[in-house]
Amino acid sequence: MIEAKIAKNMALIKENIRISAQKVARDPKEIQLLAVSKMASLEEIKIAYNLGQRIFAENKVQEILTKKPLLPADIKWHLIGSLQTNKVKSIIDKVELIHSLDRWSLAEEISKRATELGILVKVLVQVNISGEKTKSGLSSIEIEDFINESRNLSGIKIKGLMTMAPLVSDSEEIRYIFRELVYLSNKIKQNISSEMMEFLSMGMTNDYQVAIEEGANIIRIGRAFFK
Ligand SMILES: *Cc1c(COP(=O)(O)O)cnc(C)c1O
Repeated sequence: MIEAKIAKNMALIKENIRISAQKVARDPKEIQLLAVSKMASLEEIKIAYNLGQRIFAENKVQEILTKKPLLPADIKWHLIGSLQTNKVKSIIDKVELIHSLDRWSLAEEISKRATELGILVKVLVQVNISGEKTKSGLSSIEIEDFINESRNLSGIKIKGLMTMAPLVSDSEEIRYIFRELVYLSNKIKQNISSEMMEFLSMGMTNDYQVAIEEGANIIRIGRAFFK
């Protein structure tokens, strides 16, 4: 029963990705679907895995540390929630991508620990476009300087930008947020480096279709996937 539900959810999300991509003449294959498993049981994650899902995301370090050893080794884990400096060391060699780089001290700590381990950690810089106080992330005006300076940190590799839009009933109201993230990304591509702006992680259950229309190439879906 759970299996049928998750299969149906996945099919619906993929169909919606296809429709939204088609609307703006994009190739749906360039859009990575992350299954946000913070509300999912191990059983549900295994079902999604058996249906072909390979990328899962958690917003808490501890969830990845607990779940990862109990699940197939070829799952790629992404950390999408805020990261405390004292947990950096335990997580950086266990994730494919960290979406939530939101302050300089964190960038320094990740780089330092990565260098100790002899690895390069891929990160996205989180931007708080709406300016809501409850959301973390750099402001639009801070972002270019931050990325410029981060080039001195040899243990991290910036791969793009991430944002979270406010919850609204009509996702058209937040289209401007995705547009602003694309604008920032393009500006950085021009002024700094296009290599550092490969990914735009934006779009969740309520707004991923709008995010895809605006250019998202990573979407983070929890409820629509598992509920
Ligand atoms: C929980 C979460 C999501 C997924 O949200 P849904 O609305 O359940 O799709 C995406 N991104 C972040 C950072 C989250 O914490």
